Amino acid sequence: MKTHPNYQADPAPPLLSAARVQKERRVGARRSAEADYRSLFENAVCGIYRDALDGTPVRCNPALAALNGYASEAEYISAVSGAHGAWYVNPARGAQFRELMLSEGRVRDFVSEVYRHRSREKFWITENAWHVRDVDGNPIFIEGTIQDATERITTMAIVERQANIDSLTGVASRFKFMNTLHEQSLDGAEGCALFSIDLDRFKEVNDTLGHAAGDFVLCRTAERLQAIADGQGLVARLGGDEFALLLPGIYAGAPLKNLAAKIISAMREPVQINGQNLMVGASVGIASFPLHAENDEELLANADLALYSAKLAGRSGFCLFDADLRMAGQHNKALENELRAAIVGGELELHYQPIVDGSTGAVQCFEALMRWNHKSRGLLMPSQFIPLAEEAGLMTDLGNWAISRACEQAVVLPEHIKIAVNVSPNQFRSANISSTLRRVLAETGLDPARLILEITESVILTSEMIADRVLSEIQSLGVQLALDDFGTGYSSLSYLQRYAFNKVKIDRTFVAGMFEKKANFAIVRAILGIGRDLGIGIVAEGIEKIEQAEALRDEGCVLMQGYLFGRPKALNEIVCDLAVQELAEIQITAPETLGQRRSWR
Ligand code: C2E
Ligand code: CA
Ligand code: CA
Repeated sequence: MKTHPNYQADPAPPLLSAARVQKERRVGARRSAEADYRSLFENAVCGIYRDALDGTPVRCNPALAALNGYASEAEYISAVSGAHGAWYVNPARGAQFRELMLSEGRVRDFVSEVYRHRSREKFWITENAWHVRDVDGNPIFIEGTIQDATERITTMAIVERQANIDSLTGVASRFKFMNTLHEQSLDGAEGCALFSIDLDRFKEVNDTLGHAAGDFVLCRTAERLQAIADGQGLVARLGGDEFALLLPGIYAGAPLKNLAAKIISAMREPVQINGQNLMVGASVGIASFPLHAENDEELLANADLALYSAKLAGRSGFCLFDADLRMAGQHNKALENELRAAIVGGELELHYQPIVDGSTGAVQCFEALMRWNHKSRGLLMPSQFIPLAEEAGLMTDLGNWAISRACEQAVVLPEHIKIAVNVSPNQFRSANISSTLRRVLAETGLDPARLILEITESVILTSEMIADRVLSEIQSLGVQLALDDFGTGYSSLSYLQRYAFNKVKIDRTFVAGMFEKKANFAIVRAILGIGRDLGIGIVAEGIEKIEQAEALRDEGCVLMQGYLFGRPKALNEIVCDLAVQELAEIQITAPETLGQRRSWR
């Protein structure tokens, strides 16, 4: 403080010697420093201690005493001897502490699990410690600070758990999977096999029944995969409806395929939600290390390529990677892009195949079958682009185009002839098939009774509830329904009753093997019998030989379709054929034999 000029100071105190003044100042400073340190020591929230070199406590602050369950320093010191001895839960951690002190004279942020002295309950601490040395530099004490780190460690453990475990299903997360995959693929001697698993109809479940149903399906999937893995390898959810199974070891093709088949059959088991049976199904791609890939990234990419190929080959199947797939993958990607353009570019066509009355040869109906008139690749068949369209999410557009094109073209055909259009499961479930139908029927003026939609059982299998609603909407428009490919799927007879199909089509594989396999013939006969009993028209597909047609006719089959009666042809060609048939009917008055009906070819 500055002295005011007018201020009159007290008379000066008696003079002290300079040395005494200095000493008093030193003492004063030391006392105030000691008081400061004591205050810090007493009030610090972290534990502070001084131990003898053998670990016997010499001093500790109240926080350290409290951390160990004691009320005061004195209580702590009298109760505890050899603090670092029985303290560490893992004695090796205690040894590490002592080693570090010996070699470096200090430890920093040393995290360990310890016992609270009094209660022997475990908790986590982080510790800093250092040697206090004499003037010669020899250690005489250990001092240090200790903080409770339980919260930090638990949080870290939670974070780590969250990172490693998929919170919905409880299987490993993508993060954990990638780390494990990386480790496995570094170990070329051990090898590993990767199964990429993708649910076939998950999106439909999620979109139509809601996320809770979707989550439920994902959890059941994870459980089933874990049951198959049976404690071996790693089951992970990579995101969405994508799962993986990583198995350590080197495998030949056969065990890999067996396991894939097991996965697929487990995924085909229906999942029960609200009393409904859902059939979701899965496809599997397999690649193994080091046989199919040099590193983890390549392994993952190749298993995915195999998965994509499995999906294209029809769902609920598996595919083992081989080098040709890489080429096929590129080819398919290119085709997929071209297909997008083809829809708007007018490269798609419908060909029509007759369904005839087997006893008269008269055409009752034409089935519309899609073709892609590709600029450079020529005429592509559905098997070459429909699976691709399904995978690329283009099938609804493609299918809706087919409905409207078929209705447009049907108008030029004689009125007694119906037109059948195939509907894919995706298209069926995509919100608005009934409004598409309503619009197309209004625009084209086609009598709804002339339109038949052909659906397969998988439409119903995914969700009976949706099937109920959409099928009755379609029927209320006056449009007819045919159950396609009957005999290949679940062939649940209850569906025939429940959904009042107008027609059921016996899959062509049964007709093809009619004479070779007794069972096929028996199935064909049984389906015809059911049709008769329920009053449903049965169509036999894929009839190529006259003997097949005759045998079917003898079993009471009326409606027939197959190359014997006519291949799928463009509209102008079938219009010609119809005209020729009309002429023939005028000329031939005697009843035709089936043999003469070869003219349909
Ligand atoms: P699908 O509905 O079972 O159609 C019958 C398939 O059998 C057609 O094959 C037809 O050409 C073929 N076929 C007919 N008669 C015979 C025969 O006597 N012998 C043999 N071996 N085959 C015969 P395509 O045209 O290749 O169509 C294959 C599948 O593609 C169809 O099977 C259908 O599932 C699907 N598809 C075709 N067009 C469409 C469409 O517009 N929309 C949808 N969603 N699917 C379509
Ligand atoms: Ca069909
Ligand atoms: Ca069919």
